[in-house]
Amino acid sequence: MRLGKYSFGIGDRFGHQGRAQLAALIEANRRGVEITPVWNKSNREHGIIGTKPGDVRKEADAAVKACGWKGPYFVDADHIGLANVDGFIEACDFFTLDVADFTGKAARPAEIDSFIADHRALLGSHRIDGIAEPVELDEPRLRAIAAKYLFAVRQAGEIYRHSESRKGVGRFVTEVSMDETDAPQTPVELLVILAAMAEEGIPAQTIAPKFSGRFNKGVDYVGDVTRFAVEFEQDLAVIRFAVERFRLPQTLKLSVHSGSDKFSIYGAIGAAIRKFDAGLHLKTAGTTWLEELIGLALAGGEGLAIAKEVYTKSFIRIDDLCGPYATVIDIDRTKLPDPEEVCKWDGRRFAGALRHDPTCPQYNLNLRQLLHVGYKVAAEMGPRFLTALQQYKPIIAENVTANLYERHICPLFFVS
Ligand SMILES: [Zn+2]
Repeated sequence: MRLGKYSFGIGDRFGHQGRAQLAALIEANRRGVEITPVWNKSNREHGIIGTKPGDVRKEADAAVKACGWKGPYFVDADHIGLANVDGFIEACDFFTLDVADFTGKAARPAEIDSFIADHRALLGSHRIDGIAEPVELDEPRLRAIAAKYLFAVRQAGEIYRHSESRKGVGRFVTEVSMDETDAPQTPVELLVILAAMAEEGIPAQTIAPKFSGRFNKGVDYVGDVTRFAVEFEQDLAVIRFAVERFRLPQTLKLSVHSGSDKFSIYGAIGAAIRKFDAGLHLKTAGTTWLEELIGLALAGGEGLAIAKEVYTKSFIRIDDLCGPYATVIDIDRTKLPDPEEVCKWDGRRFAGALRHDPTCPQYNLNLRQLLHVGYKVAAEMGPRFLTALQQYKPIIAENVTANLYERHICPLFFVS
């Protein structure tokens, strides 16, 4: 099962925007860029909303049918481990093996010794096409990297083999993710990780390292964009080198778990994948929920009332809602508008504060991050919220499609 060169991790909390998201990919296709849709939803999201992986499969199948989508598409078991993979086997054909929690846990000394003995070819100086300086690796450094990552890669191997035994050989796409860790992986660490993945026989088609900088939920990248650009290109160079050297799948590419809306690095990512003729997987499902709220606010009436209520309740329950996302949001609480003030807003004012348009004076990234995690409040509204999604479908769909196409696809693929 091959994943196309470009793919997007889409999907949405409540499973209503599949068609609207697909419409953006259809438009990209019309302009000559094929992007494979991958519906992704993590176990964390399923838990908070009370959905099952089968619900995502149903949404994806229905959207594909309704839109007449002829290309491949996938359903991703996003960020799974041995403890929860079984619930995803039937519905999914893309598995993101999350081993971030195992990085830094050392393998047994004998295992590290034998890894080093088997990979002496990694030692020394390597000229990697696309990296100016030779990449140097001596034994103490290799040992240190193996101590940090070998156990995690072996864990990925276990999850992979378990999934393969349940799902069948060649029946799914494999991603390995290490993005939810404290420290970014350097290109030389990535090289060793890929060597270890090849040894484990993990046929990964995407790998999600942690990049430097902050990837907070729903808001732009915080960090040094120039540094990111260098790092991203070096990772592409290492992957190209490793694919040849270690016989990893030719389709192996970087996966960026964007946390949605990393607009300031899209230029660098787009330029790098063109320069290297590389593929890209970009996960950006979360942005869609906020477009639903924007659509509801703009619709007025009950839609706007719901949007305001989601804000008010999220404001009151900020600690509870932010808990599971503590490492990926930075909210300045002093800059959150008072719910009483928000209640006086009209739909345009609400949309202005929420919509990710940094040039809009009303845009408030603190409010946006709070609402990003506020989907739990909407989930608790149950049928009232879902009915509103149906009732205001056209205006919501318009915002969902325009956001994905204009703010994500165009800056990555259609730069003039
Ligand atoms: Zn992730």
